[in-house]
Amino acid sequence: MSLTPANRIRLKILSGFLGSGKTTWLRHQLHEGALRGRVVIVNEAAAAAIDDALLADLARVIVIPGGCICCTRQAEFLAALRRHCDQARPPDIVLETSGLAEPARIVEAIRADPVLVHHMVIDDVLVTVDAVHARASLQSDPLVRRQLVSADRLLITKLDQLEEADVACLIATLRSINPGAQVTGTIRGEDARLPDHAGAEAFELPALAGQSEKPVVAADIAIDPAMGWEVFSLWLSALLHARGDEIFRIKGVVRTPAGRVLLQCVQKSVLPPEILPETQAGGGDFDNRVAFIGRGFDQSSLQRSITEFAADKT
Ligand SMILES: [Zn+2]
Repeated sequence: MSLTPANRIRLKILSGFLGSGKTTWLRHQLHEGALRGRVVIVNEAAAAAIDDALLADLARVIVIPGGCICCTRQAEFLAALRRHCDQARPPDIVLETSGLAEPARIVEAIRADPVLVHHMVIDDVLVTVDAVHARASLQSDPLVRRQLVSADRLLITKLDQLEEADVACLIATLRSINPGAQVTGTIRGEDARLPDHAGAEAFELPALAGQSEKPVVAADIAIDPAMGWEVFSLWLSALLHARGDEIFRIKGVVRTPAGRVLLQCVQKSVLPPEILPETQAGGGDFDNRVAFIGRGFDQSSLQRSITEFAADKT
């Protein structure tokens, strides 16, 4: 893992199942002036692009229709990103994926591209969750669960169409699937308050084919600065090789001789580490802490692993 300075193009990924309200949310954000200056890339699995017509008056829109960019149209998507990078001052990007996409595969494709890996940085992964249909789709569809696990933020849409008690159970369910993601609510694109979900029970979800029964956990690991970046990198590589299939997300800030480094992984993909600006007093409270989301480990086993590894190498 080598360190490269920041000043890359930022990419925000907006994903979520078919009909879960991605475009409505994005349209509202653009209308309110959030995401100002960003180019919007819209991918539609259908041949006819409809979403771009809804967005075109609010932002510059690039449409990739007729297939999903995480699989069948991936080459075309990567080519579009490369063309974007070739501009003199390329703007940041919001990507609205098709409802069939797996955000982790998109991140993996960008990371594996020898040009894009040096030019792009993933801001965050947002996934919309339809309040009305989430329960049924979570019960039957492994894709919906895979979308959820790579999210930094889960947006529950159509919040006004579900009873508060059921929303509370949905929040508990989402937290059990991805304990690391922030959960927020929206109604027709506007932020909306979530009900209190303390004590709410998660829905019972059947294990789906190829899916482990082990619970998903979030662990927050302290990194001893004396360990050094090289040793930490080695430990992380070893962990991802051994356990990569059970790790969904890693995010944290590690202090290195080169500065504060933002480290992110989506499933097995390590994103290029990014040097962060030095913070004002008190802003570095989360330095040398790395959050892990996945299954098959817990806080103490992970902390023990890194401590023993570092003791071995130093
Ligand atoms: Zn796909």
